[in-house]
Amino acid sequence: MPGMAPAIVIAGAGECGTRAAFALREEGWDGPVILAGAEPSPPYERPPLSKTGELKPICDEDSLREAGITFLPGTEAARLDTAAHVLELADGRRLPYRSLLLATGARARRLPFGGGTQVHVLRTHADSVALRERLTPGRRVAVIGGGFIGLELASSAAALGCAVTVIELGPRLMGRAVPAQVAAVMAERHIAAGVDIRCGTGVTALAQTASGVAITLAEGATVEADVVIAGVGAAPETSLAETAGIDTADGIAVDARFATSAPDVFAAGDCCRYPHPLYDDRLLRLESWRAAQEHGTAAARAMLGGTEPYAGVPWFWTDQHDYSLQVAGLADAASREVVRVRPDGVEIWFGLADAGRLVAAAAAGPGNSVAKDIKLAEMLIARRAAPDPAALADPGVGLKSVLRSPVAS
Ligand SMILES: Cc1cc2nc3c(=O)[nH]c(=O)nc-3n(C[C@H](O)[C@H](O)[C@H](O)COP(=O)(O)OP(=O)(O)OC[C@H]3O[C@@H](n4cnc5c(N)ncnc54)[C@H](O)[C@@H]3O)c2cc1C
Repeated sequence: MPGMAPAIVIAGAGECGTRAAFALREEGWDGPVILAGAEPSPPYERPPLSKTGELKPICDEDSLREAGITFLPGTEAARLDTAAHVLELADGRRLPYRSLLLATGARARRLPFGGGTQVHVLRTHADSVALRERLTPGRRVAVIGGGFIGLELASSAAALGCAVTVIELGPRLMGRAVPAQVAAVMAERHIAAGVDIRCGTGVTALAQTASGVAITLAEGATVEADVVIAGVGAAPETSLAETAGIDTADGIAVDARFATSAPDVFAAGDCCRYPHPLYDDRLLRLESWRAAQEHGTAAARAMLGGTEPYAGVPWFWTDQHDYSLQVAGLADAASREVVRVRPDGVEIWFGLADAGRLVAAAAAGPGNSVAKDIKLAEMLIARRAAPDPAALADPGVGLKSVLRSPVAS
């Protein structure tokens, strides 16, 4: 605020920005903290939006006040002057900063077709409210894109009594980050729940009809729907950084402590692209709830002078029907796979790199049944362990004992 000593300013009050604000206090910063968020509500969790649809706050305004965080809801950061160290808001206010964190997240990609008001995307609570009121029993719902959010919505819509079709361009579901074997478990679960899964087919046109939307598929077939959901991914929100001349490339480019190319400007969460020390400094842009939180904490430390690189193991989960899927590490970093079939039939997939190092693990199963094994695998990944593949495959060998495996060089 004008007249105030330079503050630590955070643009974006989502998972990452909010966590960073509290972490600044936990780390002992007692100067001003300003958290400016474009959305009108107090910070909330996005994962429930595609699952139950509930609005789950991250914190309320009282806890922000008690922590001495100046929260500015409905406030868009419009321009950044990196030389003057000033963030300008859309309403014209100017916030001088000591350090600035860009935690602007991502926005849902849209389809390059029309289709009118029947076509929905899901990123915000407002999107969720607009979509949920249309998911009534008997409605025909077409989900374009077989990624996590599309599939979670397919499962929610089926549970609400809708007739659901999923249309995926790739040869299988969740092709980006989930091994084929694990994705197949979820595909079967969808089919058992009555979801019509169509992979290997693109959409070429959407047209509004008297009763809804006609979706034309590449091979010429048409799918009729009352509600269309575009689950075609998200694009990092980089515009503030770009117009300020900060380096970006599919995300705001940062180092392993979330520093951007501009002095005292940091970026973290879904909007950033960072080098990962566990994967030969490969540049990653994650869209993951836990990563967004961890980035927030790590960026807060870095803004206070911390020098430790962030090396958290990538991890995410998705819930579809009564199944949960978890992935730890990066499945596409693996050159070899090993599968453990547990006595309950659940398969745990392990991905090994050339030197035998465990770089990823994934599994899908009922309820919370895969959580413990994936947690142990995550610990192995963090330790750069090179476990004996036979031990990994053998359900009789506890993963805890595998934790004593040698470390890859
Ligand atoms: C529907 C849905 C379901 C998900 N489910 C899962 C899941 O099951 N598991 C999982 O691991 N992850 C899941 N995720 C991903 C996870 O929620 C995100 O990775 C996480 O929210 C990212 O946090 P963030 O703070 O970086 O960005 P966001 O949560 O996107 O927050 C960014 C905030 O910045 C604001 N903003 C943008 N530009 C400006 C500006 N110029 N000025 C001020 N404010 C600005 C935005 O309005 C937004 O509120 C899901 C995401 C969605 C959308």
